[in-house]
Amino acid sequence: MEHHISNRVASLTPSLTLAISAKAKQMRADGLDVVGFGAGEPDFDTPEHIKEAATKALRDGFTKYTPSSGVIELREAIATKFQEENGLTYSPSQIIVNCGGKHSCYNVIMATCDPGDEVIIPAPYWVSYPEMAKLAEAVPVILPTNDETAFKVTPAQLEAAITDKTRLFILNSPSNPTGTVYTPDEIKALGDVCIAKGVYIMSDEIYERLIYGDSVHRSVATFSPEHYDHTIIVHGFAKAWSMTGWRLGFLAAPDPVAKAINAMQSHSTSNPTSFAQMGGIAALQGPQAHLSGWLVQFDKRRRAAYERLLAMKGVTCVEPGGAFYLFPNISGTGMGSVEFCDRLLQEKQVAMVPGVAFGSDSCLRMSYATNMENIEKGLDRMADFVESLG
Ligand SMILES: *Cc1c(COP(=O)(O)O)cnc(C)c1O
Repeated sequence: MEHHISNRVASLTPSLTLAISAKAKQMRADGLDVVGFGAGEPDFDTPEHIKEAATKALRDGFTKYTPSSGVIELREAIATKFQEENGLTYSPSQIIVNCGGKHSCYNVIMATCDPGDEVIIPAPYWVSYPEMAKLAEAVPVILPTNDETAFKVTPAQLEAAITDKTRLFILNSPSNPTGTVYTPDEIKALGDVCIAKGVYIMSDEIYERLIYGDSVHRSVATFSPEHYDHTIIVHGFAKAWSMTGWRLGFLAAPDPVAKAINAMQSHSTSNPTSFAQMGGIAALQGPQAHLSGWLVQFDKRRRAAYERLLAMKGVTCVEPGGAFYLFPNISGTGMGSVEFCDRLLQEKQVAMVPGVAFGSDSCLRMSYATNMENIEKGLDRMADFVESLG
């Protein structure tokens, strides 16, 4: 058999993030003491009451198909969250529950983009956005940003990138990989450009609750009915409830878009796992106290790691306002991100993700979703490494 892979899939870029973690894993298996900063998930366990709710659902026999967009109780709970936390009114029919925030993004891009349509993606970007656009046979249009503007795109930059073919602008605040949080004014201004040009905003708000210092999160959908009508919010339970493995996410969209996505989902994944949805209801309706404890820890680590990075020779860093990543610039060492990360792993057994995976070769992504002891140890080693470069 002459095997055939579709052009769509053959054109995908394999994940560099996974390549690094595979190498780190191999080194650990070989007995080396590797300090890992690659994690894209909280290091805390899912809160107990959420696990209880799913376990009970399983025991009670809640093990059959549900409506493909999720059970009504969960969609109502999500609508309540949007109302109370964001001041946004969505009916349950505008909400689709799915298999994770990643699935939300994929379905939005597939349901709104035709082949040849352009998707505007600010860099540094979450690795999956451009690849998802390619899967939809759309064209990713990358808007470069750098640390001089705290990795923010400006309205002028966005406007200049929009063409007759632009369908979607992807906004991710707080950001993975930079931790950047846009101010409400900045968000509104980007929304204004999209409204003027008739472009959808896919607003990835999965880190909305992971915010530090003076930063605030405000959804682009909140500024006016026009903003609301141009916005599709993608979200999920992975980060603020530490439920990455549950594969449970959701989105909120204008009615026709939600309807289209529901049709698509009914022919692909169907409903997300029935008993996981019961965990989702408990996550939204149960106590939220776990989060303040996590935020204290994340913030402590964020500040400690930031200070340490600033003190390193050849390294600069923008102070992040959200998520759980730092995105230091290492171009002062004279190395690109792949060489730097390779050598750091090889010579000091410290794993970070090369920025080139996110569209920025001068930087690295360091996740601080790990304990303080690891942060101290890993950054001691990194400091030794940059000193050794002379
Ligand atoms: C983690 C993450 C998601 C969603 O992850 P899921 O595990 O699929 O819920 C979406 N967007 C960004 C930017 C993320 O970092």
